[in-house]
Amino acid sequence: MGRVGIGYDAHRLVTGRKLVLGGVAIPSEKGLHGHSDGDVLLHAIADALLGAIGERDIGHFFPNSDSRWEGVSSLIFLERIRELLHRKGWAIENIDASLIAEAPKIGPYLEEMRAAVSQALGIESSRIGIKATTNEGMGFPGRGEGMAAMAVASVEKA
Ligand SMILES: [Zn+2]
Repeated sequence: MGRVGIGYDAHRLVTGRKLVLGGVAIPSEKGLHGHSDGDVLLHAIADALLGAIGERDIGHFFPNSDSRWEGVSSLIFLERIRELLHRKGWAIENIDASLIAEAPKIGPYLEEMRAAVSQALGIESSRIGIKATTNEGMGFPGRGEGMAAMAVASVEKA
């Protein structure tokens, strides 16, 4: 019997930070603030996976107070979660994630993002959905103050 988990995350857009989404660096004047690389899309995916197996959230496993995670690629979080899933006998069925941001267009980076997530989690990219939508100018994503992401993950006993 499978299980599902949900993840949501939001980060502020600030100058002087690299923009990293789905494990891929994207040219941009602003990047996402955060202790790690601020990859909002991967953080939502991480929380969805942790939720699906009844674990606590990403902040519990990779706290801001721990200097080990300062500036690291969030792909490392997915690799750690992959090990946790494996230890507990779970296999990922699929992941679906949506980025909510006015810019950039992620189309040109989509396959690279799916490949990065696929490699970090050890699953085929056909099991990974990544999409993006604008917020039609409304709210913090609409005003370009930040980006948000939502994800669901489905797992089954391996
Ligand atoms: Zn985050």
